[in-house]
Amino acid sequence: MLIYTPDSYSKSSPSGKRALFLDRDGVINTEINYLYKIEDFEFIDGIFDLCRTAVEHNYRVVVVTNQSGIARGYYSETDLEKLTKWMMREFAGHGIEISKVYACPHLINADLESYRRDCHARKPNPGMLLQAKEDFNLDLSKCIFIGDKKRDMEAGLRAGIGSLILFDASTSVPEELDLKVSIVSNLNQAKEKLFNK
Ligand SMILES: [Mg+2]
Ligand SMILES: [Zn+2]
Repeated sequence: MLIYTPDSYSKSSPSGKRALFLDRDGVINTEINYLYKIEDFEFIDGIFDLCRTAVEHNYRVVVVTNQSGIARGYYSETDLEKLTKWMMREFAGHGIEISKVYACPHLINADLESYRRDCHARKPNPGMLLQAKEDFNLDLSKCIFIGDKKRDMEAGLRAGIGSLILFDASTSVPEELDLKVSIVSNLNQAKEKLFNK
């Protein structure tokens, strides 16, 4: 598991047991297959507003992302580190501290042998969420996870995340998929649903 931290943690950052977990591709940035270049990274509308509101409600922001493009040899750990550090600075520039970014570079049938692994961190496995729980002493039942894929929701369910949001832009109205998962069609709906504002 690759883990990225901010250059420094601010004293005013949320310190409680709650986190807003975000998938990266399709939630923070527009999905492009195997994105690794900064110039291709396009923030999705509402992401900064959503995160700011979460921080106001004392949620730390944590990113959990599958990055099998590394196992497939499409880009390197160095590429991912550059992009991730840049992304974290962009958030910081909007007043939002990302506590950590967790990334899994593995794939069970990877081309590159060194990344060929049935990894506990790769979603739908819950490894990254559980590592964050350890790192920040989180109560996952009080945490939120927003993802755009079924495997995000599955990882969240397996980890016992209390509130799961599936971001699906093709949805016309917000709906409850089941008791634990809600679907939203944009990040503003997620913000309203989660924080009533
Ligand atoms: Mg995604
Ligand atoms: Zn992994």
